[in-house]
Amino acid sequence: MLETLNFEVEKIVKSKIEEVDFTNLPFGKVFSDHMLVAEYSDGEWKNVKIGPYQPISFEPSLAALHYGQAIFEGLKAYRNQQGEPVVFRPEANFERFNISAKRMCMPEVPEEIFMKGLAQLIDVDKNWIPKEEGFALYIRPFMFATDEFIGVRPSQTYKFIIFTCPVGAYYSQPVKVKFETEYSRSCEGGIGFAKAAANYGASMYPTQLAQQQGFDQVIWTDASEHEYIEESGVMNVMFVIDGVLVTPPAKDTILKGITRDSVLTVARDWGMNVEERKVSVAEVIKAIEENRLTEAFGVGTAAVVSQIAEITYKDKKYILPEVAGRDFSNKVYRELDDIKTGKKADTRGWVFKV
Ligand SMILES: *Cc1c(COP(=O)(O)O)cnc(C)c1O
Repeated sequence: MLETLNFEVEKIVKSKIEEVDFTNLPFGKVFSDHMLVAEYSDGEWKNVKIGPYQPISFEPSLAALHYGQAIFEGLKAYRNQQGEPVVFRPEANFERFNISAKRMCMPEVPEEIFMKGLAQLIDVDKNWIPKEEGFALYIRPFMFATDEFIGVRPSQTYKFIIFTCPVGAYYSQPVKVKFETEYSRSCEGGIGFAKAAANYGASMYPTQLAQQQGFDQVIWTDASEHEYIEESGVMNVMFVIDGVLVTPPAKDTILKGITRDSVLTVARDWGMNVEERKVSVAEVIKAIEENRLTEAFGVGTAAVVSQIAEITYKDKKYILPEVAGRDFSNKVYRELDDIKTGKKADTRGWVFKV
């Protein structure tokens, strides 16, 4: 149970919820009534407040816009079988947020504000958690630099905000991907492990080029040799080869996904062999050619599991096994869904009641 602290709450005069068509929810375009805002200055967090979701104003010199001190998180609230609001592994997001903050030279957000603020915000807007199966309330905590100053140095002031969006069921169609062998989203010593806005900026151009070539996504490879696999777009990537679940280790260049961790944990608990190690493009191609690769998929909060149908490497296209026959990824997808919604017991302390 997340205790709710009593931050100042200014409730909106009239909820917008009546205007929302919950049967047609485009991702990330519909926002709930309230947001939480906290401000950092003089070395401390202050002015924590839940108020109406509304525009904020700032000067054109706002530091985040110029030098990229901006980080975020993404997680979801659901309704369990009893209709109560629950959030999946928010503490893991809280911890990762502060890892990102440190790398970007931003202040850590105290647990009080992140966790209790999140709980209280969800409580205030709990009517916005859709009731339909597969739907969720997407939660977006983020922080950005707010000094109005264009000198290059870490900002001395920041805003931390959480807002939420009701989202529909997200069934990702099996995707066509290519191994990216020219561009990189991150490099050793860089910020790939941080959930920083800048990483997304870096990924857009190569992703757009891939889409113009008819792919849905790229599979990133290491920045120096383009030999080892890193991630699939903005998801972690996993393969089942010879019955072993294989995924690249989440170090410097790879975002340490919470879905990744959940999938690996469940796989280990099921007694499956799991290997977190470097995975080369050559190994995957060889395993496909020898029919030893049975599954390939991305994992992340948005789709949970996104099946990879085809992989292209240097103009050669490889068709992967039928999605319907992919036992592990289909089963783990259902398992995580059942845990989140309370159909199966939460034996690992992953599900937080608000
Ligand atoms: C957010 C993100 C993921 C997935 O992380 P989850 O915690 O599972 O949602 C994977 N890769 C990148 C680059 C990301 O930004």
